[in-house]
Amino acid sequence: MNSKTLGLYIHIPFCGSKCAYCDFFSMRGNEERYSLYTDLLKDKIKYFSEKYPNRTVDTVYFGGGTPSIIGALGISSIIDEIRKYFSVADNCEITVEANPECVSQEFDFDILNSCGINRLSVGMQTAVPEELFLLGRKHTNDDVKNTVEKAQKSGIPNISIDVMLGIPKQTESSLKYTIDFCSSLNITHISSYILKVEKNTRFWKNRSDYEFPDEDIQANLYLKSCELLENKGFLQYEISNFSKPGYESRHNLKYWNMEDYLGIGPSAHSFIEGKRFYYDRSIEKFRQNIWHRDEDCSDIETYIMLKLRLKSGLLISEFEKTFNLSVSEIFYRKARLFQNAGLCTVEKNPRRLFLTPQGFLLSNSVIVELLETL
Ligand code: SF4
Repeated sequence: MNSKTLGLYIHIPFCGSKCAYCDFFSMRGNEERYSLYTDLLKDKIKYFSEKYPNRTVDTVYFGGGTPSIIGALGISSIIDEIRKYFSVADNCEITVEANPECVSQEFDFDILNSCGINRLSVGMQTAVPEELFLLGRKHTNDDVKNTVEKAQKSGIPNISIDVMLGIPKQTESSLKYTIDFCSSLNITHISSYILKVEKNTRFWKNRSDYEFPDEDIQANLYLKSCELLENKGFLQYEISNFSKPGYESRHNLKYWNMEDYLGIGPSAHSFIEGKRFYYDRSIEKFRQNIWHRDEDCSDIETYIMLKLRLKSGLLISEFEKTFNLSVSEIFYRKARLFQNAGLCTVEKNPRRLFLTPQGFLLSNSVIVELLETL
């Protein structure tokens, strides 16, 4: 019997310390709390396998927080539980986010590799020590190098590094230094995000102490990063994601392609059988299984927004079929205006619209204007 596929996101809400910019749900823990939380996750894995039977898990993503903080054995015991209760595809992509300072020394990558983990996402952000200090990151470039080398030596084939854009005082040349450093490590994937100063972060509370770059500087850094990464062979496939050919994140592609994924853990979001729901930022509410329906966006708006995040863009015939409507000449007229401004490309055969890097920077306005024509 053919079963539907499912991506699993597992949230580990613990970190050694809080970075200045971080708004993710995470807290300090200790061995006892890691172990109690791991047991709770295992209960929920069993619960969801009964709620969604006959599913084949083809991607698993451990995010956080700092998943690596619970140790390789903790992670592998959760994977064992997933394999016990779900059917897991042979080629399942299994990603673990890791912080360089906690895995460069004692972490056992051979355990990760032997339990099927084949993708590592390293939270580096920058290779410039002054920028790392501003962000409140505790690792060094040697930690990143050790982490990547140990993972590669253990046979983990797909390694991603996070790079941040718009750090106070970051320049094009400091960005180039960071990207050159990443590229020298022979990795396969880079996620490159513009810093957003969120409320409830240390950056927000002390915002008058920092010189945050304005929108123009952020835009220049973003366009520069696209150029530098493409020159190093990292092809852009989403607003913030670049990979060597064949190494795109299959799990994250599920989010943008509106395929089913289940988020297990406080603050985790899910999209299953057309319904979106999420857990609060509370371990207790997660324990009690209190979740919320997420109905912020209309389906059409969400579809266009997610598809236009991808370099492959919006396939018009697929869109028309999904929503049983036809795109009017007004839509194309508007799209051609954006094309003339260098923000998108409109193709005739197949009918497709995709944003350029300049267009990604203005995607919200482009999407709002396109939606008005429908
Ligand atoms: S390591 Fe990641 S999740 Fe933890 S505080 Fe820093 S940015 Fe947030």
